Amino acid sequence: MADDCPDKNILQSTALLQYILEANSYPREHEQLKELRETTLRKFDKSLSVMSVPADQGLFLSMLLKLMNAKKTIEIGVFTGYSLLTTALALPADGQITAIDVNRESFEIGLPFFKKAGVDHKINFVESMALVVLNDLINDDTNTEFDFAFVDAVKGEYIKYHELLLRLVKVGGIIAYDNTLWYGSVAQNDDVVPHDLKANRSHIREFNAFLVNDSRVEIALLSIGDGLTLCRRIK
Ligand code: SAH
Ligand code: CA
Repeated sequence: MADDCPDKNILQSTALLQYILEANSYPREHEQLKELRETTLRKFDKSLSVMSVPADQGLFLSMLLKLMNAKKTIEIGVFTGYSLLTTALALPADGQITAIDVNRESFEIGLPFFKKAGVDHKINFVESMALVVLNDLINDDTNTEFDFAFVDAVKGEYIKYHELLLRLVKVGGIIAYDNTLWYGSVAQNDDVVPHDLKANRSHIREFNAFLVNDSRVEIALLSIGDGLTLCRRIK
């Protein structure tokens, strides 16, 4: 996909990413994360297992959560739980994660690894549509003041998640949106974008443009994984 985008190859070549993973991230990846990644690859074909955040992004998220002293977080879109286990490992022993996914089956693939890592007590899994749970949390005022949110479910719902999360994440907290470069397609001309990427490319471009004009947050779009946009709530 990046082939018709020559500039991108200088910094984002497959070889460079491979170097980052092999020389840096895989050697420092937690054993249970490694096993979960390998199990996910075995159970799903490659097109689905790429949904998990890559190991370098995992290390970044872990560092960020620790720098922030995050204790109470929310995750929207769990799949087999690579980003969830990363978060659970980074939080203190009394940390709490509300983890939402419509699919419990894929979460259960990850569960033995969360248990083996000794962090399953930090995870509260909710099998439901994200928008329903976010609205419920807003109506239950004992359940606000999250330090951090990781958003990785329906790309066409990111703007809606954002409005709700701004009521749940505290001022100074971070909302992190995954896949904000959508396989690099955001930078391609529409006529060369593969058909299966078009709809989400358009959602993500709309979301990215929306954030630029949102004065309630500071933003930083990182070219890590498939693009990660950090929003720091400032009002
Ligand atoms: N964050 C995970 C990957 C998540 S993939 C990781 O990095 O490992 C996206 C997930 O969103 C899928 O598991 C899918 O079941 C879930 N999903 C899809 N629609 C949803 C919805 N409306 N609400 C909550 N989760 C949803
Ligand atoms: Ca993702």
